[in-house]
Amino acid sequence: MSELAQQAAVLREKLNQYAHEYYVLDAPSVPDAEYDRLFRELQAIELANPQLQTPDSPTLRVGGKPLPQFSPVTHAVAMLSIRTETDVTEQGALAFDASVRKELGLAENDPPVEYAAELKFDGLAINLRYEDGVLVQAATRGDGATGEDVTQNIRTIGQIPLRLKGDAPALLEVRGEVYMRRDDFAKLNAKQIAAGEKTFVNPRNTAAGAVRQLDPAIAAQRPLSFYGYGLGDLSGWDSQPNTHAGILNALRDFGFPVCDLRAVVLGGVGLAQFHAQVAAQRDELPFDIDGVVYKVNSIAQQRQLGFRTREPRWAVAHKYPAQEALTTVEAIDIQVGRTGSLTPVARLAPVFVGGVTVTNATLHNQDEIDRKDVRVGDTVVVRRAGDVIPEVVSVVFERRPMIEQPGADLFTPTQVPQYPAYRILELYPTCPVCGSKTVREPEEARVRCTGGLFCSAQRKEALKHFAGRRMMDIEGLGDKLIEQLVDADLVKTPADLYRLNLSQLAGLERMAEKSANNLLAAIEASKSTTLSRFIFALGIRNVGEATARDLAQHFTSLDALQVATVEDLQAVNDVGPIVTQSIIEFFAEPHNREVIASLLEVGVNWPVIEAKPLDGVLVGKTLVITGTLPTLSRDEAKALIEANGGKVAGSVSKKTDFVLAGEAAGSKLDKAQSLGVAILDETALRRMLNV
Ligand code: NAD
Repeated sequence: MSELAQQAAVLREKLNQYAHEYYVLDAPSVPDAEYDRLFRELQAIELANPQLQTPDSPTLRVGGKPLPQFSPVTHAVAMLSIRTETDVTEQGALAFDASVRKELGLAENDPPVEYAAELKFDGLAINLRYEDGVLVQAATRGDGATGEDVTQNIRTIGQIPLRLKGDAPALLEVRGEVYMRRDDFAKLNAKQIAAGEKTFVNPRNTAAGAVRQLDPAIAAQRPLSFYGYGLGDLSGWDSQPNTHAGILNALRDFGFPVCDLRAVVLGGVGLAQFHAQVAAQRDELPFDIDGVVYKVNSIAQQRQLGFRTREPRWAVAHKYPAQEALTTVEAIDIQVGRTGSLTPVARLAPVFVGGVTVTNATLHNQDEIDRKDVRVGDTVVVRRAGDVIPEVVSVVFERRPMIEQPGADLFTPTQVPQYPAYRILELYPTCPVCGSKTVREPEEARVRCTGGLFCSAQRKEALKHFAGRRMMDIEGLGDKLIEQLVDADLVKTPADLYRLNLSQLAGLERMAEKSANNLLAAIEASKSTTLSRFIFALGIRNVGEATARDLAQHFTSLDALQVATVEDLQAVNDVGPIVTQSIIEFFAEPHNREVIASLLEVGVNWPVIEAKPLDGVLVGKTLVITGTLPTLSRDEAKALIEANGGKVAGSVSKKTDFVLAGEAAGSKLDKAQSLGVAILDETALRRMLNV
């Protein structure tokens, strides 16, 4: 085989594989731009060497084989492809006009050809068959001759009329695109993430996958939309318009959604203008397009022009720069966000996508990295559609760099991926910004820094929260001012607020001496607070105002809260495992304890809390625990007593109401007996509390 023949064979095999993934599986592994590039390469070889074109060449075929799971539908009128004009400049439009004029045999001074210009929606082509105005069948394009019967799924799309409005012809086949709006796609993915499910790659494949769902109930949950753009078979339509634009208007009158962004234009210049006008609006459109489509407007001229193998001569798709492209991941960096989450960001080999050069893309969080299995060195698909932040949507696994496995034999894989799976927590056990411990809570997608009060990445947010009205309530200390104070390096932690002086404040932009004085007074005044405000102000994750109040009421002192164990915390009303975990982590971080100590040192204070009588049989009673109880640990017994309104004291006195005694109780039991204090064992306590 000649080198060229071999090259053609490799291209065919690749293109056939990609086409199968795209058309049959709705799961392409490479972006369209990559497919188009290889397609053009093969086309060029075949054009120059027609003997190399084989009957299975993708350049001769439309779409993909229908799936056997669906009933086949033979199209009465073939569903063809459209030639793609890949020159994304206005030259593409001028070239199409020139070829049409040539085919129509027009001379230079003949009038310009009239075109209907519309959008090329990025979805899935559908043929809708209406008999006597009623939808009887919906089919995919399939390989152009035979499609798949997807009537049940299409019926779930509210925008598609089940019955035509007005005077319907005996037979009307309407062709159009099923697509998914960008906002619907984003919502769907947010739902997937919330449910811990895999996210969808892009709206086009999601729409195609939904239409070709075997279960109509699942298809019904996918928010799909539709635009009509053409006709298939028909009979008995006396008033059929004689232009394409007229047909689209008629489709609208029958009740189909037809996109308003379309125009009838004259000549190549008119087409180029439409192309440019749509390009300017592309990012703001509520759905993805990959180009515009030009169609000769006159149906008579369309007939005159006719068809090539797989496409009409009277239409062309004029593309825009792709919104998805291939590039490689050169590194993965970690950014610490304002709320302390560690966000992985892929550093990419620069790539032009969605009209800009992209050099990095968010990987969101550990869950997303795991789902996509993105590693350094990988070839990835990057997507930038609309003004959305660029995103790594998938890995092209077949291009993952591998290394030889030492000592491998015939029966074990001889190659392993060059880089291990990316694990944030293993690579960053401490925060790259402040060195505090990092954690990933169970059920949480994100890894977080626990240095809430200390971490400079979180400083501004922590301070804004601290100074808030329902927290320390520092009047006049707004967001802007906090940003200034942090940027000027005057304040690092909340304690630094209490060390500010007049000259420092007066040195700030737009700060008059009077307001500086007022602010100092407000900061001073905020020192006298309440324990619950103070706890809330610390900004402990998952501890809101109500929880802070409960904690203050329960522990009555900051010291008690700081040393509280898991059991102690869970004994508090409405405090579950997640809140408990957050509190434990917060106080376990030495940096946070240091900041609290400094706050107390500068004079933040609150009145002592009298424990409020609680509900329960032990309200007002003080118990002392001694010895080893048969089933309860000391902490469990304490929690049980407190949950029933009692207090647990460390030593026995006349004020002690009960001593709860277990095995090997010592001097406390003796003292209780000598003072005549009632003695309970665990069984007696349980009977009393009914547990
Ligand atoms: P096409 O480019 O041949 O165009 C025809 C299709 O355009 C129609 O079937 C219809 O679905 C659609 N369309 C949208 N708006 C239209 C309008 N206003 N009027 C008429 N038709 C309109 O489409 P194709 O053959 O389905 O697919 C080719 C595209 O698919 C290329 O962009 C190619 O990159 C992509 N593709 C990608 C891969 C991959 O692996 N990524 C594989 C195969 C194909």
